[in-house]
Amino acid sequence: MESTCEYARKYSKDVSLHELRDRLAEFAEVRGWDQFHSPRNLLLALVGEVGELSEIFQWKGEVAKGLPNWSSGDKEHLEEELSDVLLYLIRLADVCGLDLGQAALTKIVKNARKYPVAARQTT
Ligand SMILES: [Mg+2]
Repeated sequence: MESTCEYARKYSKDVSLHELRDRLAEFAEVRGWDQFHSPRNLLLALVGEVGELSEIFQWKGEVAKGLPNWSSGDKEHLEEELSDVLLYLIRLADVCGLDLGQAALTKIVKNARKYPVAARQTT
């Protein structure tokens, strides 16, 4: 029997923020959770999930890119907490009536203007 993680990978594709937004909205609606999904409540839930994400790295010291010494269980736990943060962030943007993907693209452009690439020296 496939694990939940294996199932998700098998049927995954390049997932869009809009798809995640719509699936989260449906998830909340069918459970009657819309009444609890105020911007404030979602922000507090997001902060809680950031705390859970931080706990994974707490006391580990510096961690190498790619997490070469982590067990598959530790990596799966990290995936779950990163997902919790992402999903609450997307849901928060949605209930605020914002297009998070478009806002992020706009912010990258603003950051590029704010932090221009330094001219490279040629020898
Ligand atoms: Mg969590």
